[in-house]
Amino acid sequence: MRIVIAGGSMAGLFAAALLRKAGHDVQVHERSRAGLEGRGAGLVAQQEVFDLLHRIGRDEVARLGVVARERITLARDGSIASAGGPPQMQISWDHLYVATRMQIPDEAYHLGRGAIAAGQDADGAWLELDDGERIHADLVIGADGIGSAVRRSMLPDDAGPRYTGYVAWRALVPEALLPVSAADVLSDRFAFFHMPGGQALGYTVTGANGELTPGQRRYNAVWYRTTPDLAATLTNVDGRVHPYSLPPGTVRPDAAREMVTSARSLLPWPFADVFAAEPQPFVQAIFDMETPRMAAGRLALIGDAAFVARPHTAMGVAKAAGDAMALAHAVNRGWTSEARGDFEAERLGTGRAIVDYGRRLGASLG
Ligand SMILES: Cc1cc2nc3c(=O)[nH]c(=O)nc-3n(C[C@H](O)[C@H](O)[C@H](O)COP(=O)(O)OP(=O)(O)OC[C@H]3O[C@@H](n4cnc5c(N)ncnc54)[C@H](O)[C@@H]3O)c2cc1C
Repeated sequence: MRIVIAGGSMAGLFAAALLRKAGHDVQVHERSRAGLEGRGAGLVAQQEVFDLLHRIGRDEVARLGVVARERITLARDGSIASAGGPPQMQISWDHLYVATRMQIPDEAYHLGRGAIAAGQDADGAWLELDDGERIHADLVIGADGIGSAVRRSMLPDDAGPRYTGYVAWRALVPEALLPVSAADVLSDRFAFFHMPGGQALGYTVTGANGELTPGQRRYNAVWYRTTPDLAATLTNVDGRVHPYSLPPGTVRPDAAREMVTSARSLLPWPFADVFAAEPQPFVQAIFDMETPRMAAGRLALIGDAAFVARPHTAMGVAKAAGDAMALAHAVNRGWTSEARGDFEAERLGTGRAIVDYGRRLGASLG
């Protein structure tokens, strides 16, 4: 089959790797100009990720990561209120990205043009890119994340993502920049702090190039914060309002200063020190989204283009892997209406359950 995929992050790459392996002609179109290398942090791998890596012959990626030796909960004064729990490994998002990206030849992975629409007629399906080119295929897959252009075309009346009322401020600080006193408390531990209308957490992840050696890694801190005025928070340094997030380097200096000052007055000092040490904090609004359909004729949706679950679930990548494996199976059965029906029956249920789980985990926040 000739298959074109919008979005070249995890869901798009997973699907492309599996479908190419099965002999299909697959082209991926990713909107980002520079590519995604070095932009991720860590993730807790789940069974779907192990299965997918096994299928593409890269099992070892799931064995490389940073181990948090225990969980700690901090008190407001920065002391450790409780400690314990089993060790937990965070694998590197970037290792996973590079391992799957390497399965796709450069001539099938196109950067710098985004999809703006998708459609189908008696002859097949098409994906339209932002320079006006229309690419024809037997199947168009929307793996283009929360703002999916393929979803908008496939389900024009769908309500889309719903803002939950809180955002995640993020810091991803090289270990070398962390104050020693904060590193002594936080490094190699999964740390939490709970407060009314907020939660902070953090853990050590690999360096931007997958470095595992202490001193060359990064500390990933997340502060979930109730934020009624989302547009103000997502107004970037040029005055433009982004719909979902502001990447590193685009947060207004006054917004970053306000966040660091508030962290100092509301969070335990080790977390406040991490945010103060981050030269380029970034922010991501938290949404819930459920799709009523994942397949319509020659159009399909997978990953965050279909369901967006709150990050507390830590299941976004596993969900993308599960979607990609089920989709590839249905395509290999000829993408018949029965195969499409089975794909939807399996993945719609899983997506809804994960979104619902995220809602319950985040209920105290928004
Ligand atoms: C740079 C990056 C770093 C991440 N780091 C982590 C991490 O450390 N830990 C973690 O658990 N999760 C991380 N995530 C999120 C995680 O990968 C996703 O939640 C999950 O895997 C679902 O992936 P997805 O491919 O469906 O969606 P996404 O990861 O959101 O990817 C969607 C992709 O589609 C592209 N795109 C958007 N619109 C268009 C369009 N119109 N046309 C073409 N392409 C388009 C985007 O640039 C993006 O690459 C990261 C995501 C990104 C993009």
